Amino acid sequence: MATAAKQRIVVLGGGFAGVYTALHLCQLNKRRGDLEVFLVNRENYFCFQPLLPEIISGNIGILDTVSPLHRLVPDARLYVREVQAIDLEKKVVSLSPGFRPRETLLPYDHLVLALGTVTDFRGSPGLYEHALPFKNLADALRLRNHLIRVLEEASIEPDPALRKQLLTFVVAGGGWSGVEVVAELNDFIRNACRQYRSISRRDIEVILVHSGERILEREVSAGLGKYAQHLLAKRGVKILLKRRLASASPDAAVLADGTRLCTGTLVSTVPSSPHPLLETLQLPKERGKIVCDATLQVVGSEHLWAAGDCALVPSRGDEKYCPPTAQHAVRQAETIAHNIVARIDGRARKTFDFTGLGKMGALGSRRAIAELAGGLKLSGVLAWFMWRTVYWMKLPGLDRKIKLAISWALDFFLPPDYVQLKTGGSKGVSQIHYESGEEVFHQGDLGDALYVVLDGEVEVVVHEPPGQRVVCRLGAGEYFGELALLQHRPRNATVRCTQPTTLLALPKADFQALAMSLPQLRSDLDRVAAARGAPTSTSLTDTCPET
Ligand SMILES: Cc1cc2nc3c(=O)[nH]c(=O)nc-3n(C[C@H](O)[C@H](O)[C@H](O)COP(=O)(O)OP(=O)(O)OC[C@H]3O[C@@H](n4cnc5c(N)ncnc54)[C@H](O)[C@@H]3O)c2cc1C
Repeated sequence: MATAAKQRIVVLGGGFAGVYTALHLCQLNKRRGDLEVFLVNRENYFCFQPLLPEIISGNIGILDTVSPLHRLVPDARLYVREVQAIDLEKKVVSLSPGFRPRETLLPYDHLVLALGTVTDFRGSPGLYEHALPFKNLADALRLRNHLIRVLEEASIEPDPALRKQLLTFVVAGGGWSGVEVVAELNDFIRNACRQYRSISRRDIEVILVHSGERILEREVSAGLGKYAQHLLAKRGVKILLKRRLASASPDAAVLADGTRLCTGTLVSTVPSSPHPLLETLQLPKERGKIVCDATLQVVGSEHLWAAGDCALVPSRGDEKYCPPTAQHAVRQAETIAHNIVARIDGRARKTFDFTGLGKMGALGSRRAIAELAGGLKLSGVLAWFMWRTVYWMKLPGLDRKIKLAISWALDFFLPPDYVQLKTGGSKGVSQIHYESGEEVFHQGDLGDALYVVLDGEVEVVVHEPPGQRVVCRLGAGEYFGELALLQHRPRNATVRCTQPTTLLALPKADFQALAMSLPQLRSDLDRVAAARGAPTSTSLTDTCPET
């Protein structure tokens, strides 16, 4: 429990807002000694998000954007756990279990909410299953690995249609994240042609889909937005304006006007959504974010504070609330730390009145745009040099600064590494979304998974030259694809979706392990196989030697 002598301050979230709050509190505590600062974060590192897009092109290394929290905030007690619940009445935070399945409870005197936002693909069919988000280090690594895999496949793919699909890259969202991602992705893929000799630059199509009239509409003035648009187009990026991403499937990005962009890579940088944990709290909210007063205290709460992307903080600028940027989060953190201590001491709190220093964004290939608070607008190499200098200075930790400077220097002389890091084992059960008319598999394909229909309908089609015959239709709760796995032979039919359909896919190895170990499941499968007119799996051990 919290001691009477010391005030226990628990900070939730180790991003810009959380880390800098903990850092300032620890600094203030050096002179006082009556504070206990706890920091809870999912990862044991702090991620400097503005540099993430550079990981795609390999300009910088994977670890150049992160700093270990133990080194950044050595005087705070760090809990690398998931925040599961907050009890505002009892003033206790409950954390996910560690090695042992036991709940950890953290009581607090003051609580700082700095959980940021989340990527939420709900409401757009297939995005959760097939679109790649871009928000944190794991997303950046996943995207880079995916791009290299696609290049490897495209370089040996004999089917021209599939090759074209693999070499088409779609990014949705023309805000900062989307523009920076598409710029780095375009550079990376086009430069890769030097190494993948069977791929020509002409084969590559990179598309940016944006719902507005021009890219960076809300972010910068028209002149700079048009400069960015023109530069990307000159480098080969096709920009589709006034178009909206509606759904996705394994093979395509589907736009609201019905256009199907056949692609093997869809990155969606749709605006982030409020953190789901905040939904559970009875606190004043607008658009899902916590409403604070100008001192960063949550409106109507004595011991609650909020900052960063999860908070709505009144602004003295043009907008009603501060925008969700790192520069605001870092300064809000300093104000919160000051005000918590002021509150403990019974002194007056200060108000947050930062209005922003300006906006900057990189456009790849040593170009950037910048619009500074005084009205100064820059573009091109000069803006890029300023962009790098500012972010280098902002990156926390001298060691990281040195490593980043070395990475940038080496990038001038050395080619990027096209190395795919295979970090995961079996993919496990996954969800797949298909649009109407799309094939799940084709007759003659190798069996790779068992499928369960969650939602929608598929038809099983047997190709018998010169025609084809629909054998049956399967709906929610029914499964298919087991025969090829049980009998280790190619698919004996094509399965096609008759409407938008969501499936659960159980990979071959996992399916075979289950079928081998559960006699009841095996006999059920045999029964269905017999009903579907196939020999039973009594010789399963012989036909599936790998399990
Ligand atoms: C690609 C990209 C580029 C950007 N570029 C810029 C830029 O150039 N300039 C700029 O000013 N801003 C930029 N931003 C925005 C900026 O990064 C955010 O405004 C800033 O990160 C907000 O800080 P935060 O602390 O509120 O949230 P975050 O930095 O998102 O931190 C939230 C933290 O909470 C943790 N967390 C969440 N839920 C839980 C849980 N249940 N349990 C435990 N931990 C949890 C997360 O792991 C994370 O560490 C960029 C953002 C992105 C994604």
